[in-house]
Amino acid sequence: MPEHVVIVGSGPAGWAAAIYAARANLHPLVFEGAVTEENRVSGTLPLGQLNLTTEVENYPGFPHGRLKEFLETAIPEKVREDSLPPLTDEDHAVTGPELMNLMRQQAVNFGTKIITDDVVEVDLKNRPFKLKTLEGKEYETHTMIIATGAKANYLGLESEEKYKNRGVSACAVCDGALPRFRNKPLVVVGGGDTAVEEATYLTKYASEVHMFLRRDQFRASKVMVDRATSSPKIKIHHFTEVDEVLGSDKGGVTGVRAHNNKSGEKHEIPASGLFLAIGHTPNTSFLKGQVELNELGYIKYTQLFRTYTSVEGVYAAGDVADDYYRQAITSAGTGCMAALDAERYLASKGI
Ligand code: FAD
Ligand code: NAP
Repeated sequence: MPEHVVIVGSGPAGWAAAIYAARANLHPLVFEGAVTEENRVSGTLPLGQLNLTTEVENYPGFPHGRLKEFLETAIPEKVREDSLPPLTDEDHAVTGPELMNLMRQQAVNFGTKIITDDVVEVDLKNRPFKLKTLEGKEYETHTMIIATGAKANYLGLESEEKYKNRGVSACAVCDGALPRFRNKPLVVVGGGDTAVEEATYLTKYASEVHMFLRRDQFRASKVMVDRATSSPKIKIHHFTEVDEVLGSDKGGVTGVRAHNNKSGEKHEIPASGLFLAIGHTPNTSFLKGQVELNELGYIKYTQLFRTYTSVEGVYAAGDVADDYYRQAITSAGTGCMAALDAERYLASKGI
């Protein structure tokens, strides 16, 4: 028997879709991703991007506070022991891993089925749709919600990997307000709109923001370039590429070693953070062209305020279809929308 709803992906979009589909008695099946070294390195392990971060201060409903008792009762003890930091009596904001485990548990509570495997192949040309997993198993489904997210691009330096979450970040809105970045110099790499947006956002907290561009020009739009060049706190370094992230085991990032790719000149800049804004890559390769993508490789919505894709019965939610907002709350929002779209499609077909 084909599934009614298969959800591929396990970030906020996937779990929000699962909660809605499960509450509608559609018994959704979630493929949450495989636990492999390849996924670890690319930042696509189960539970998505938020599972890679520390405190999440901007997800509505989770204010900074004494969350111990709530978290103790909401997340099973074994999950806490296996994969989460110990609870303390201190005030804190919910952490990314806690929030993701809460979402997963909420979906489980309503009867969501979960398989810890990657979907590696889909056949969306025939109905019911077919999919194949990394373990080689095959499944059929009437509808599919693709919520596989996107991964931030990094430079690929060993030192960058070492200091991830300790000064190296790919999300200023997420991490910029952390105490370690306050009133300290920061470095942003990239010259696109995201880089300018991140640099401008960081000026609220940093003493100064150094933007490293690898060529003589921004890729960002004129209005954004004007914003960067007119900010007294932003210093632009053209032709500049990072060679190494400097830091200490105890304190994390302390600076960046870079070179001018025209003159060859090397220099070091003290900084408590390095923010990468060099683009994102959506996790769409497994679709192998069966769903229409936009020019940046993200799934294309075919109707405004719907999560419809180019294939009827296939919906997209979260960062996999969003090259612009890329937040947990927007992902959860479109996850909810995708589940409602799938539910209405099934009802319209009498399935
Ligand atoms: P993702 O979270 O990207 O999850 C998708 C997951 O699906 C993957 O990780 C993987 O496990 C699974 N998957 C992928 N491909 C397959 C496949 N083929 N088969 C099966 N499973 C698959 N946003 C905020 O709002 N606030 C924050 O504080 C914040 N902090 C962040 C900190 C960091 C370090 C990062 C990287 C991002 C942060 N974000 C934050 C952004 C936020 O995490 C994302 O916008 C959000 O997670 C996107 O959710 P998603 O459900 O679309 O997909
Ligand atoms: P982007 O436009 O692709 O820009 C990426 C930037 O990173 C470019 O400056 C690029 O340099 C640089 N880069 C890429 N790889 C690099 C590397 N290995 N080392 C150093 N630098 C590297 O990506 P984006 O800024 O994330 O924007 C994505 C989309 O979202 C765009 O369409 C953008 O307009 C949109 N967006 C809009 C807004 C807004 O309007 N407010 C805000 C954010 C995003 P080169 O230029 O040299 O290639």
